[in-house]
Amino acid sequence: MGAQVSVPDGVHVVVVGGGFGGIAAAQQLRSAGFDFTLLDLRDSFHHNVAALRASVQPGFAQRTFIPYVETFGTSFLQGRVERVDPERQLVVLQGGREVQYSHLILCTGSDGPFPGKFNTEASLQDGVTAYEDMVGQIQAADSVLVVGGGATGVEMAAEIKTEYPDKKVVLIHSRIGLADPQLVQSVRQQAKEVLLEKGVELVLGQKVSNLSELPLNRTQKNLQVRTDKGETLETDLIICCTGIRINSGAYASSLAGSMAADGALKVNQYLQVEGFSNIFAVGDCADLREAKLAYHAGLHAYIAVSNIISSLSGKPLTPYRTGYVSMLLAMGRDDGVGQFNGVRLPRWLVALGKSRDLLLWKSWREMQQKQP
Ligand SMILES: Cc1cc2nc3c(=O)[nH]c(=O)nc-3n(C[C@H](O)[C@H](O)[C@H](O)COP(=O)(O)OP(=O)(O)OC[C@H]3O[C@@H](n4cnc5c(N)ncnc54)[C@H](O)[C@@H]3O)c2cc1C
Repeated sequence: MGAQVSVPDGVHVVVVGGGFGGIAAAQQLRSAGFDFTLLDLRDSFHHNVAALRASVQPGFAQRTFIPYVETFGTSFLQGRVERVDPERQLVVLQGGREVQYSHLILCTGSDGPFPGKFNTEASLQDGVTAYEDMVGQIQAADSVLVVGGGATGVEMAAEIKTEYPDKKVVLIHSRIGLADPQLVQSVRQQAKEVLLEKGVELVLGQKVSNLSELPLNRTQKNLQVRTDKGETLETDLIICCTGIRINSGAYASSLAGSMAADGALKVNQYLQVEGFSNIFAVGDCADLREAKLAYHAGLHAYIAVSNIISSLSGKPLTPYRTGYVSMLLAMGRDDGVGQFNGVRLPRWLVALGKSRDLLLWKSWREMQQKQP
């Protein structure tokens, strides 16, 4: 792809959500010469892969937000999509504005607790301020409790301990195994080793039982955290890294029949939403048996746009095939663990390839803008 195609009159592709999947789809539509609209509730793309570094390192956050308008001009429209009307082929924004589509690519992704996610209707500057404020909270705390030892929690604990080695950092996880269960066992074990080497204290096989009563992301001396095993942990700051859920609000009513129990959209092998040939789901909101990754969202976008082009020219559609798991965890800026196509990588290689810059260059390149 990349070359201009002959686009029939009346074709207008609407992309809902400008995350990793949405910007990849929009760029491909643009280079193929399509008339399209990219919709997002914010004014800027958030490279949330680097969100945790932005929470610990002063001045870093501004590199993680990239304005849409400078890349997509009038093809970008800011607004929250509240409803999809497949019969009339339009999306309805908060406030009632309607946008007509011939083809729709849904990339509404997933949401979760700050600082890993920031799906708030805020300006770029407000986003940067929220992260700089988080840096201040971490700096003010002598001890930090990270709740949840999945990929995000493991990275969060490592980021804090790397930037502030003198702080006490505790990671509590309900299971014994850390990081993503889709990673090979030796990579998960390595993640644990790196945390211990850095001095992170691990509380495994226990859950916080009074989380709803405690302040998150706000430093307050001597918070008393209780666990389901009857232990009490004292900390100054609690950061929650659990509870990622699919952002299904935009289509929950009209596409309910195509939704899985968790809100993701059921798709066929061509990434068409079940029951619709002109609606595609891309990224975290697609119901696929694979890890929810920015890397996958980009691959989905390529397939969805290719299939729109093929369907317009009567060519066979391309199936999406899930590959072996490739996942890299940044364990602070100086270390990392991970695997490529199911094969474990050396720590130094992950540190070099991901942890140093957290792949920021990739998003700035995708958005064709210069990193500040
Ligand atoms: C801390 C952290 C680190 C990660 N690190 C990695 C990594 O190293 N590598 C990797 O491959 N993956 C990583 N991931 C996973 C990755 O971030 C997600 O898989 C990826 O963001 C999914 O992209 P997406 O386009 O599907 O959705 P998202 O990135 O979630 O984007 C969805 C977009 O849709 C918009 N939106 C949602 N609803 C609406 C609506 N109703 N109207 C308008 N706009 C809407 C949102 O504002 C958002 O911009 C990480 C995740 C976290 C939390």
